[in-house]
Amino acid sequence: MRRNATQVKRWTTIILTAACMLGATLMAYAKDPTGPALEALTEQETDGPAAPQEEEIQAQEPPQPQEAPDEAASQGQETQPEENRADGLVLSGGRYLDPNAPMVALTFDDGPYAPVGNRIMDSMEQYDGRCTFFVVGDRVASYPSEILRMHQNGHEIGNHTYNHKYLDKLNAEQVRSQVELCRQAVASVTGEAPVLVRLPGGRKNGTVLANIPYPIIMWNLDTRDWKTRNASSSIQSVLGGVKDGDIILMHELYSASGDAAAALIPALRERGFQLVTVSELARFRGGLQNGALYYSFGR
Ligand SMILES: [Zn+2]
Repeated sequence: MRRNATQVKRWTTIILTAACMLGATLMAYAKDPTGPALEALTEQETDGPAAPQEEEIQAQEPPQPQEAPDEAASQGQETQPEENRADGLVLSGGRYLDPNAPMVALTFDDGPYAPVGNRIMDSMEQYDGRCTFFVVGDRVASYPSEILRMHQNGHEIGNHTYNHKYLDKLNAEQVRSQVELCRQAVASVTGEAPVLVRLPGGRKNGTVLANIPYPIIMWNLDTRDWKTRNASSSIQSVLGGVKDGDIILMHELYSASGDAAAALIPALRERGFQLVTVSELARFRGGLQNGALYYSFGR
């Protein structure tokens, strides 16, 4: 009897253990249909700058060109083959924009940094907004999932040099290298090199301007978020003076900047501003030229 009871207990333990393992596996797949491999990559990504293996990057879904009318369709809006609708709205970045209504470009420098960047994108996408991330090239390989999300969801990836050197301290060849290496880093993840350039610290001289054959995007509304690390201060600096065509400077590295963005995005929408990328803003406000400097796109 005693021996039988021990055997029953042992078999019960084995069956329960097997059931638990099966359950855990099913839950892992339910959480992420692509399986635990991508989950592991995501966890590694938030840990910091450790570069994931090449195979892990390739294991993800391949980059796809941005052309997402699905979002508009799911919202019950009329979709037509043409980009321009009869009422003047223009399909861009997966939602419709009114070229004649107020719009501003929120820009976030110094990332990628997934814990803040994904939060900004969550809020942007909830409110039909898109924004521009000026990324530092040597950080890109650490956050491939975040970079792909920017690319696939209609946000804009800009070039903030390869490792954030002040370009006015470099020679011509070094300036060109800083810009080109960042382009390559982004293209290795998305398949598309960024066009717009933002200068680290905004610092420039004749050599810098002569050796960057792309539009250079400055700003006209500076939140100074990197200095204050205070969300209320950043929110106030924007809402206190924002106007149509503004390019707003923020930074992706600080949680306070994420807090500020999460509050600013609905507040700006409520005030009637469309939240657009720099290229969208330029498209409706006169365009861009290589080698030219842009501070805002007011009418
Ligand atoms: Zn910077």
